[in-house]
Amino acid sequence: MLVKTKEVAPSVHALTIPTPFLVGPVNVYVIEGEALTLVDTGPKTEEARDVLTEELKALGYRPEDVEILILTHHHPDHIGLTDLFTGAKLYGHEKTRPWLEGSETFHERKARFFSGLYQSHGVPEAVTAMIEGANSYYAAYASRSPLSGTLKEDDAVPGLAGWTVIETPGHAQSQISLYRESDGILISGDHLIKHISSNAIIEAPYEEGEERPKTLLQYRESLRKCLHVKRAFSGHGDPVDNPAELIRERMAKQLEKAAVIKALLGNEKLTAFELCVRLYPQMYKKQPGLTLSETLGHLDLLEDGGKVSAVKSEGVYYYQSC
Ligand SMILES: [Zn+2]
Repeated sequence: MLVKTKEVAPSVHALTIPTPFLVGPVNVYVIEGEALTLVDTGPKTEEARDVLTEELKALGYRPEDVEILILTHHHPDHIGLTDLFTGAKLYGHEKTRPWLEGSETFHERKARFFSGLYQSHGVPEAVTAMIEGANSYYAAYASRSPLSGTLKEDDAVPGLAGWTVIETPGHAQSQISLYRESDGILISGDHLIKHISSNAIIEAPYEEGEERPKTLLQYRESLRKCLHVKRAFSGHGDPVDNPAELIRERMAKQLEKAAVIKALLGNEKLTAFELCVRLYPQMYKKQPGLTLSETLGHLDLLEDGGKVSAVKSEGVYYYQSC
């Protein structure tokens, strides 16, 4: 087996783990601090389990040597093998909890939220069914494990002196990044990725009665928080050597995409789904959930900037230019 482990920064090793998903392999990180720490795991597949075990072995470790396991966010390609590390203490943001521990009330509320959301944005039932099918497919690659503790903004990372937590919600509500001040490096999970723009995925609120988070607006705020970072190590692909430049590029592209949506809207009154079809005439059929998130996120951005407004009529939102 070809072992691709490499030391990307002092005491930080990148391990590349295969996934069955379109995004390709996922990077997980071994950090040799006061405690032997692993950041993320890869998806729940035999292949990922074998590669992760082999790559740990190449560094001289067995899974049971890992003392602390930290999850950057709750997506299955990052949390699928937590049960391989039964001897490790497991940490993540509080919002990883319902995904890891399988809260029934959370998942029921989430299902109700999305069915209402899709209806109110004009999504046909057949497309909603496709999105739900895709979500269950992904969920099968996650695993369930109880958290030992949670991490929030500015927390010191347990077992890793000199590392702190930066909350970076947007791509996922549970997304955190780990920052080492001495050399300005960031383990960014899917918050910053060099070769693809991270989707600010629409999520349900985590508490009853809350509004849905405006994920693209959040994401832009989280990007601004990382302008000082010197080098970022991502969940997918190569390290980001100039994070500030990439952040500015991503933020400019978001404004460009929002302008395209506004141009597509013209003087009509359209639903988010109708705009999604215009923006992604082919891709929406293959990735309806992600393309709808993109469209709705950029509509939120336009609405926030006073460039479009949404009017509800018979339970459905119609967007129009201001
Ligand atoms: Zn992700």
